[in-house]
Amino acid sequence: MMEKIVILGAGYAGMMTGSRLERFSQEFTLINQNSYHYFTTLLHEVAGGRSIPSNYAVPLTDVLSRPTTHVVIDEVLGIDREGCTVQLKSGRKEWYDFLVITLGSVPEYFGIPGLAENSLVLNSLDSAIRIHDHIVKQMELYMLDGDLRHLRIVVGGGGLTGIELLGELLDLVPKLCVKYGIPEELVDVQTIEAAPEILPQLPDALRRKAVNFLMFKGAKLHMNTKITKVTAETVHLEGDEIIETGTIIWTGGVRANPLLASAGFTIDRRGRAKVNPFLQSVDDARVFLGGDSAWCEGENGRPIPPTAQMASQMGHVIADNLTALANGRQMKPFHARPLGTLASLGREVGVGTVLGVPVQGVIGGMFKESSKLKYLWELGGLRLVEMKGRVI
Ligand code: NAD
Repeated sequence: MMEKIVILGAGYAGMMTGSRLERFSQEFTLINQNSYHYFTTLLHEVAGGRSIPSNYAVPLTDVLSRPTTHVVIDEVLGIDREGCTVQLKSGRKEWYDFLVITLGSVPEYFGIPGLAENSLVLNSLDSAIRIHDHIVKQMELYMLDGDLRHLRIVVGGGGLTGIELLGELLDLVPKLCVKYGIPEELVDVQTIEAAPEILPQLPDALRRKAVNFLMFKGAKLHMNTKITKVTAETVHLEGDEIIETGTIIWTGGVRANPLLASAGFTIDRRGRAKVNPFLQSVDDARVFLGGDSAWCEGENGRPIPPTAQMASQMGHVIADNLTALANGRQMKPFHARPLGTLASLGREVGVGTVLGVPVQGVIGGMFKESSKLKYLWELGGLRLVEMKGRVI
């Protein structure tokens, strides 16, 4: 009898696992809380209003459409590893022979008082829309009461998420200022970063370019500055400085879905479950983990970062290994192939490295654009490139 494969989560790792299993004609069930897959790496564009949100998502069944594929829209509430079942919000229990956990991440708040309650985050299509709508609303409130706090936007965290969002907001602000007739110099967009530098992934020279460009576009960048407390209208910094603001967006880090800890996996300090070289849980050979769910050590012994690029590559290997098991073949180990890191700094400009070569400016922006097409191609071939490539 064919073994039953269940995939939890339709992010980059889950979708890539499913799409590749379809190529091998393997039957599987994919469970996801939304009926669509969204492009997490482009959420900053949604927050900045670059294009309509629906352009950044694709219905699951448009990509995974084989008769051997079963898509279930439901929320995973728990994983019972002894009983080999998954508990769903609808009350239904899904049993499995092999489970693929690719459940993404949640914001890491580091226990900072008031942060979770009072900040916006950028981790889903809905949250990106919320950021956009909130900033528009603040402009409208300023028009009513003239309170300058409505025109101050504070982004906590200068990693890739925070900086890509900042770049996009710096494009959005001038448009909104024209729309509402607000002088642009009244708007104050700030990034607060605890470390000495933003974008630690990039070489010094590129990082300096990014800093100069963002400041030229009007951002204030505070480095070596830690957020210690947040209230509805204030951000408190180490050293007692307080910023009054109408908009606080937290991009200070992520941790794995808490379901992994509750299911009793061996986890790291970011809640990711430890895997062996084949991406199987070290605790349970029936469970594979990918993307932000996997605590996977790279060749340098350091955990592989939770990026879309790595998630997609893991999805490939998980599908190959499940197929190998089904056919009595040897599984293959996962070897990360880092292609580079690209940070967009707004609509046209980007910085980063591609296969070790530094890229910047408009060329950097073009590489970033082409990375979108590469992903669409890998996920859904020409059909998906045609469907989405023109609009995002
Ligand atoms: P991150 O952990 O990489 O960056 C968070 C930043 O917030 C850090 O620089 C940290 O010093 C800062 N921070 C933490 N606590 C703070 C505090 N109290 N006050 C001020 N600053 C504080 O998180 P991220 O940017 O969300 O990225 C998560 C993962 O996703 C990373 O692996 C990243 O590489 C990846 N990512 C990649 C891309 C891309 O490739 N373009 C885009 C987004 C995210």
